[in-house]
Amino acid sequence: LSHRILFESCPLCASKSIALLKTADCTRHPLYKPSMPPAINWMRCTPCGHVFTDGYFTLEAQAEIFSHTNESQKLGADIERQRQVAARMIEKVLPYVREGTWMDVGFGNGSLLFTAQEYGFTSVGTDLRAENVEMLNGLNIEAYCADLSQVSLKTKCNVISLADVLEHMPYPAQGLQACARLLDDNGVLLISMPNADSMLWRVLDVNNANPYWGELEHYHNFGRKRLYALLMQHGFEPVQYGVSERYRACMEVIVKKKV
Ligand SMILES: [Zn+2]
Repeated sequence: LSHRILFESCPLCASKSIALLKTADCTRHPLYKPSMPPAINWMRCTPCGHVFTDGYFTLEAQAEIFSHTNESQKLGADIERQRQVAARMIEKVLPYVREGTWMDVGFGNGSLLFTAQEYGFTSVGTDLRAENVEMLNGLNIEAYCADLSQVSLKTKCNVISLADVLEHMPYPAQGLQACARLLDDNGVLLISMPNADSMLWRVLDVNNANPYWGELEHYHNFGRKRLYALLMQHGFEPVQYGVSERYRACMEVIVKKKV
């Protein structure tokens, strides 16, 4: 039984010049099951330098992984502390956008949506975990259990947050194309993910303590440089860099549509 559909070329630039970078153990990951391969193969694209897994999960393998939800991904998890973290994310956005519709992609525990609502935004969410979507609908918040490319809304979004989301998508460019369609021309994206260009990432590597090589749910290890190039290629322009408090070694970037 094959768990992954292999990338035949770089998922960002489509070059076929890709080579194995390293193999990492994933058996200590909380979502790991003994029926899965015990290691993740990480590839590197020669021309663009992007680092990605050798393939993405089949629908069956994905269903197996999504049959379990981490405590931190449950709706309302750690709500009091998460509200503080979410508030600091929202305050980074306020200089650019003060009101309107805020869509959070992969809303997880919901803290960003709940807090955006407190700040006066209309919250909309998408998530791949049906249980979370039903619970959010039950709280009168518009939510969809769908891939971003399938989502269509009555009005354009003023903010779309992709908090630790793009690195989970087999083809991140497709996610960005959906955002370009759903975002108002004066809106912003808030994007967070680990930054493989950071010194902290290198320190974690040297100490053999980098959790991201064994992260079952990630297909990509972006650095700031490769992320910015991808954004520029898809009609976006990063306007503010920051570090993220959500996960280790993460960056948090505010992005506008290119005029
Ligand atoms: Zn490439």
